[in-house]
Amino acid sequence: MNPCANYIGGRWSPAHEGATFERRNPADPSDLIGRFPASGPADAAAAVASVDSAKLAWAKTDPEKRQHVLERAAELILGRVDGLARELTREEGKILSAATQEWRRAAANFRLYAGEALRTAGETFPTVDSTLVYSVREPVGIVLAITPWNFPVSIPSRKIAPALATGNGVIYKPSEVTPLSGQRMVEILLEAGLPEGVIALVQGRGADLGDALIKPAAVGAVTFTGSYQTGCRIHQAAGPDKRLQLEMGGKNPCIVLDDADPTRAAQIATQGAFSLTGQACTATSRVLVAGAVYDSVVREIVARARAFRIGNGLDPEVTMGPLASEAQYRKVLEMIDIGRKEKLHEAFGAGQLESPLPEIGYFVAPTVFVDVPPESRLAREEIFGPVVCVSRVSGYEEALRLANAVEYGLAASIVTRDMGRALSFARDIDAGVIKVNSATGGVSLMAPFGGLKHSSNQTNKEQAGHGVMDFYTRTKTVYLST
Ligand code: NAP
Repeated sequence: MNPCANYIGGRWSPAHEGATFERRNPADPSDLIGRFPASGPADAAAAVASVDSAKLAWAKTDPEKRQHVLERAAELILGRVDGLARELTREEGKILSAATQEWRRAAANFRLYAGEALRTAGETFPTVDSTLVYSVREPVGIVLAITPWNFPVSIPSRKIAPALATGNGVIYKPSEVTPLSGQRMVEILLEAGLPEGVIALVQGRGADLGDALIKPAAVGAVTFTGSYQTGCRIHQAAGPDKRLQLEMGGKNPCIVLDDADPTRAAQIATQGAFSLTGQACTATSRVLVAGAVYDSVVREIVARARAFRIGNGLDPEVTMGPLASEAQYRKVLEMIDIGRKEKLHEAFGAGQLESPLPEIGYFVAPTVFVDVPPESRLAREEIFGPVVCVSRVSGYEEALRLANAVEYGLAASIVTRDMGRALSFARDIDAGVIKVNSATGGVSLMAPFGGLKHSSNQTNKEQAGHGVMDFYTRTKTVYLST
C-alpha cells in the first residue's frame, strides 16, 4: 500500500513544499482517512513536465494495449469492489450500497472506453480528382481532469478512461474532500499496466494550484465537473484556445400533473431529492405539484422523508449518510436557516425526526419546505443537500414556466399519464436530461449526459453517446496526391 501522496514522474511523492491536509470520515470525524499532499504550483509544474515527456510514447502505443490496460483496471476494481466501497463510504459518507454501485459504474466506464480505444477511426472523403482526402484523429496531448467529491470515482473514470483510450497523458486533480478515492484510481491503473509517467496525480486545492495546472500550453484539454462558480474561474484561467469541458450545477425540477398517482409521484420526487443525501448534480430540488394532488403528494413526501434511517453509511440499515464535509454541512444548514428566515413552511425537518440525529458527524435531516414561492432563494439556488422545495401550481403551463425560471438546466422530470404532455415537456423544458415518470437522478452509461444554461458550457458534452471520444481527440485532414 502506498502512503498518501502525489504521483508525479512515476514516483509517489509528498508536495514540493511538504505541506499536507487531512481528510476525515464525515460520519465520524475522529476517523482519520489520511494526510495528503497540499500541492502548489511547483508540483503542478512537475506534473505537467513529467506527463509531457511520457505522453508521446503512450500515444504511439498499439490501441489494443491501451484497451487491455483499461479492461484490466475494470477487472481489478470488480475483484476488490467490497473493500473499495467501504473506503469510499468512510471517505465521502455515501451509504455502502451506493458506494458499491459507484465503483461498479467506474468499472463499467473502464470497459466502455476500453472498447472505444479500438474504434477511434478517421474518415475518407470523396473527391473529383485522384486526391485521397482523409481525416485522422490524434490525442490532444495532455488532458487535465478536475473532479468533484460527490461521485469521486465514477466521474473521474469517465474522464480519465477516454483520455487514456485515445492516447493522451492525464493529469488528475481530485477534490480535496475525496483524495483517497483519487489515489485508489491511479493505483489501479498503474497495477493494470499503465506505463509510469502517463498519469500524474496532484492532490490539493486552491486557485494557485488550479491556475498552474490549467494554464501551461502543454495542457491541451481541461475536463471539469463541479460548481458553476468554479467553472467560471476555470474558463477564465484556460483562455480562448484551450479545449474545455465544463459540467456544472443544477436546480432540478420534478413536475407532478394532476393525473399522476400521488404515491408514485412522491416516490419519484423523494428518490430524486434524498438519494445520496441530496448531493447529486441531478438531485430533485424543486417539486412543482398541480393543485388536485398537492395535499396527497406533500403528505406522502413527508411520510417518506420520515422513514429515512440516518447514520453511518457502513451500517446496512442506514438509508441516508452524512453530508460529505463540514463546509457542505454548514452550507446546507445555512440554506435551511434562510428558508426559516423567509418564513417558509417546513413540513418536515430535524424537529420532526423520530430519533435524534447522531451527535457526531455532519448529519442533516431530510427537510421538506412546502408552499415555496418561486422568488425564495431556496427555489432558485443550488443547495446540494437533503432539502426539497414543494410548490403548488395551477397546471402544466405554470409548472413549465417555473421549471425554466432558474439559471440552471441540468435534469428535469415529469410525472403524468399523458404522453402527449410528456412529449411537449421534453421539447419545452430547458434541461439536458429529461425523465418521464422516473427520478431526475441516475443516467445510463452511454447516453449523452450534460446540462444546458449554467449547467454546462455545452461545447463538448461529457458522456456524449456516439460522439464520446471527440473531446479527447483532435482531427487533421490530409489531402494526398501522387
Ligand atoms: P467545486 O467546489 O466547484 O470543486 C470541483 C473541483 O474543482 C474540485 O476538485 C475543486 O478542488 C476544484 N477547484 C476549485 N477551485 C478551483 C480552481 N480555482 N482551479 C481549479 N480547480 C478548482 O465543486 P464540488 O463542491 O466539488 O462539487 C459540487 C458541485 O459539482 C455542485 O455544483 C454539483 O452540481 C456539481 N456537479 C456537477 C455534475 C455534472 O455532471 N454536471 C456532477 C457532479 C457534481 P477542491 O475541492 O479541492 O478545492
